[in-house]
Amino acid sequence: MGLMSEVRLTWEALLDLVYPPGLSCMVCKGKLDKGSAYGICTVCLKEISFIENKRWLQAAYTTGDGRGIRMFSAVAYRGEAKKLIYALKYKHNTYLSREMAEIMKDFLSGETIDFDLIIPVPLYNKKKRRRGFNQAALLAKYLGIKTGVEVAHTNLIRTRNTRIMHQLSRLDRRENVRAAFRLKKPENISGRSILIIDDILTTGATIEECGKVLYEAGAEAVTAMTFARGMLEKE
Ligand SMILES: [Zn+2]
Repeated sequence: MGLMSEVRLTWEALLDLVYPPGLSCMVCKGKLDKGSAYGICTVCLKEISFIENKRWLQAAYTTGDGRGIRMFSAVAYRGEAKKLIYALKYKHNTYLSREMAEIMKDFLSGETIDFDLIIPVPLYNKKKRRRGFNQAALLAKYLGIKTGVEVAHTNLIRTRNTRIMHQLSRLDRRENVRAAFRLKKPENISGRSILIIDDILTTGATIEECGKVLYEAGAEAVTAMTFARGMLEKE
């Protein structure tokens, strides 16, 4: 691990100390009541749509021998879940990532997904420097701590900036992320079962592109898990 990433991880560890957990609701700042969970009060919990286990989206990409990328998400991207992500990304409330990872871990414990390596979707370096942290890396870090699975923070990198996705059509999104990712040490991926982590799943184009790079490096299996996902209209 290079010096820069050590500095970054330490900084992220320091940010965690800013907020003492377990005192007030992470969403509304009200008092935590008896039915609360994940540091969220009963009222706010009701406004979070937890997605049932066994429901996933399948990325379009498959390997030559038919292995694909299943994409799981813990909650729907609406209501209080949307507020949580906003507060994490744009208000720098990094302590939220710890409880969000707990929600993801509980979702995963109901699934039979084998993974022995966790990899967060990387941000382009300039973007990370501006924000100071990568929210996907924080979620991956805590999921790693909670599951005891190794996290590779610096292997998968984003080699160029991509345009803001929500301004693009579905086809353009695919084009936008094409060849945007690269592995620094592809030899470390061979034979591994990987869980890709991100905060939100929209079209799945970003995850698909990451998964493709991982399969091409010899990954045994690639699955993805995001905290939230944008729901289709019929859902
Ligand atoms: Zn609340």
